[in-house]
Amino acid sequence: MQNIRSEATAKAARRTAEGRTPGGPLAVLGDAEGLELLRRARRLFGDGLVLVSSFGTESAVLLDMAASIDRDFPVIFLDTGKLFPETLAYRDRLVALLGLRRVRTLRPDPAALARRDPDGRLFRRDPDRCCDLRKSEPLDRALAGFRAWVTGRKRYQGGLRRELPPVERDPRSDRIKLNPLARWSPEDLQHYRRLRQLPPHPLWLRGYATVGCASCTSPTGPGEGPRAGRWRGLDKTECGIHLPPPVREDDRSRSPPAVT
Ligand code: SF4
Repeated sequence: MQNIRSEATAKAARRTAEGRTPGGPLAVLGDAEGLELLRRARRLFGDGLVLVSSFGTESAVLLDMAASIDRDFPVIFLDTGKLFPETLAYRDRLVALLGLRRVRTLRPDPAALARRDPDGRLFRRDPDRCCDLRKSEPLDRALAGFRAWVTGRKRYQGGLRRELPPVERDPRSDRIKLNPLARWSPEDLQHYRRLRQLPPHPLWLRGYATVGCASCTSPTGPGEGPRAGRWRGLDKTECGIHLPPPVREDDRSRSPPAVT
């Protein structure tokens, strides 16, 4: 009974704090960015806030910030089954180095994979559907338990990210989405990494500006944009987790994600 009362009181206090502030959570977060935005959001949402990280070439900065606030900061890592082995090794290295204690690895539903991508080559036939199956669907289900989430997107990455605000509403739900590094430059990131002595992703040293699935990522050449190596040659610049949801025909894919 005590626990139920405490939980109800905490929920009411949270609602009051948000409700009494004109503009709700967005106003509480104000115009903060970087570490300060992450701090305010952690105070506001508690464990209802999760950092979604690809453990890619630029992920160490946000992960380090989260760990510096609280090593129990919830983190989700989406293993699509198509990642570079170097990314999996980098995840393990960073988790150990930063002491993060609540990193969950999320995987696509094996039954949905067997049904919709039996040969593992859907990325060639229909990359949008492949991203939906391997990224968006598992992530949408995992985020159902959270009130807000953190992404590592930056404006300098271009395309749809050019006007990215530090705080926004998720077009896939009514959740708050935080982009603490939205206004950071590559130089800012590099400076932070040096200052904190964070190890680089092994593929960054081999010319990959950003890293996603091995099947859809290539190194970038001189003068190319930072995301030029993603889905090279295709008219596709985003995987879809940051876009409004498509109409999904296959409801059977909505079984719980595999989480370890
Ligand atoms: S990035 Fe490529 S392999 Fe990965 S989920 Fe998207 S289409 Fe599939």
